[in-house]
Amino acid sequence: MTTYETRPTTETRPTTTDAGVPVASDEHSLTVGPDGPLLLQDHYLLEQMANFNRERIPERQPHAKGGGAFGAFEVTNDVSAFTRAAVFQPGARTDVLIRFSTVAGERGSPDTWRDPRGFAVKFYTSAGNLDIVGNNTPVFFIRDPLKFQHFIRSQKRRADNNLRDHDMQWDFWTLSPESAHQVTWLMGDRGIPRTWRHMNGYSSHTYMWINAAGEQFWVKYHFKTDQGIEFFTQDEADQMAAIDTDYHQRDLYEHIRDGEFPSWTLKMQIMPFEDAKTYRFNPFDLTKVWPHADYPLHEVGRLTLNRNVSDYHTEMEQAAFEPNNLVAGTGLSPDKMLLARGFSYADAHRARLGVNYKQIPVNSPKVPVHSYSKDGAMRVQNVSDPVYAPNSYGGPAARPELTDDGGRWHADGEMVRTAYTLRPDDDDWGQAGTMVREVLDDAARARLVDNIVGHLLNGVSEPVLERAFEYWRNVDKDLGGRIEAGVRAKQHLTDPKAAQQANPARSDAQAKA
Ligand code: NDP
Repeated sequence: MTTYETRPTTETRPTTTDAGVPVASDEHSLTVGPDGPLLLQDHYLLEQMANFNRERIPERQPHAKGGGAFGAFEVTNDVSAFTRAAVFQPGARTDVLIRFSTVAGERGSPDTWRDPRGFAVKFYTSAGNLDIVGNNTPVFFIRDPLKFQHFIRSQKRRADNNLRDHDMQWDFWTLSPESAHQVTWLMGDRGIPRTWRHMNGYSSHTYMWINAAGEQFWVKYHFKTDQGIEFFTQDEADQMAAIDTDYHQRDLYEHIRDGEFPSWTLKMQIMPFEDAKTYRFNPFDLTKVWPHADYPLHEVGRLTLNRNVSDYHTEMEQAAFEPNNLVAGTGLSPDKMLLARGFSYADAHRARLGVNYKQIPVNSPKVPVHSYSKDGAMRVQNVSDPVYAPNSYGGPAARPELTDDGGRWHADGEMVRTAYTLRPDDDDWGQAGTMVREVLDDAARARLVDNIVGHLLNGVSEPVLERAFEYWRNVDKDLGGRIEAGVRAKQHLTDPKAAQQANPARSDAQAKA
């Protein structure tokens, strides 16, 4: 019989308990005789079992599946006329963390499902952390945060059979015409990026920049990929989902490991503060872009990813990005979605990671923290007296000149529950139609039609289906006609029995109706 030498040498680091005490064995529990019962005093066995049971923390509600890396942002152009933010001053070089993600899928879902991608950047600036929590699309499905929770639920799973359901998705979209621009984008080529390296990132929201003289500007961030835009067709993405569910994560990790560092050029659209009052559509509406012809891009600098995370759980799963992490020279805007995200992100982190989540090293700023936050679960950084302000004992004191406090704008009016005030070019279909007619070429338009037809044939039923045709006719008459013809031509191929099996509750309800 062959025996293997498994005993460690004296140089091997000893296995220890979580208290640092060396353990007796990596292989055998403590028992009464070789065949006897286990003993409760086997503390190491109990610790290992208990830790294992608690390894998973709640996954993020949207954006559960993701990955990212560390890197640096270097300023290449002088934009000091528009912002006093230290991170954007000439010569500045700032460490960054990025997390890319899909939105609707769970932690184990395929990277190549059709979905927007999260593009969240944390700048560890010399004035505290700045987070731009964007997507790979310049717009979003809705413009009022009251609809956000409902929107995400419609993209996730049904209550009865726990399945994702295209009927539910299209029901929500077609009852929410403001979604048309983003759905056009999603169903087009960019709805499945080839890799995270081959997509842009956008703040989507309008933010504020403030210069040293106190002048305010409205801005949008565009992180343009230096690798070029590349996408997967639906067939390619389906094949990849079957071969490698983690394709995007693997691609990023391997390129950085091999020294092929991906980069993005940050460019800004900048709108003078006063323009917003009279611009032809509401510039704070998250379902719209600012046309480049009106507000061209100003180059700011280059963001390069050059270091993989070494511990996914502590550096990525517990990474916490929030749009309200703003530094002097930057601020919010009256975009209702952005203002709501200021609450919801920090709240989500408190729920997932605990109230002291900013003390987890990946979330900590690289500048000293002098906060009066005190205690709570997992507080690990020391707090010293005095623990209140104002005080007579040398505690931290606010210095208003170091902050712009999120920016300022004027608002006055009755309390109402209503949509944004309509302006001449505020409509839900126009910019989606422009994309279809003026941005896409014939081949991209044909793929858009195929993608939408395929999506609709996958379980979408009346009355949602008819509403979907109308929705696309509103975007573009010809496009809507092609989509309806495509669906009608293939509808007989869909098997009603399969639909009944997949969604018995819905089919039963339809039968009764
Ligand atoms: P432009 O012709 O100046 O810009 C069109 C932009 O469309 C391009 O710069 C590119 O954005 C983007 N684009 C190109 N191909 C695709 C595609 N297959 N899917 C999605 N986006 C694509 O015109 P406008 O600025 O007047 O915008 C016209 C339309 O373009 C808008 O209604 C909007 O739908 C779309 N768009 C506009 C953006 C903007 O910020 N103005 C950004 C993205 C899309 P990029 O350079 O960022 O890659």
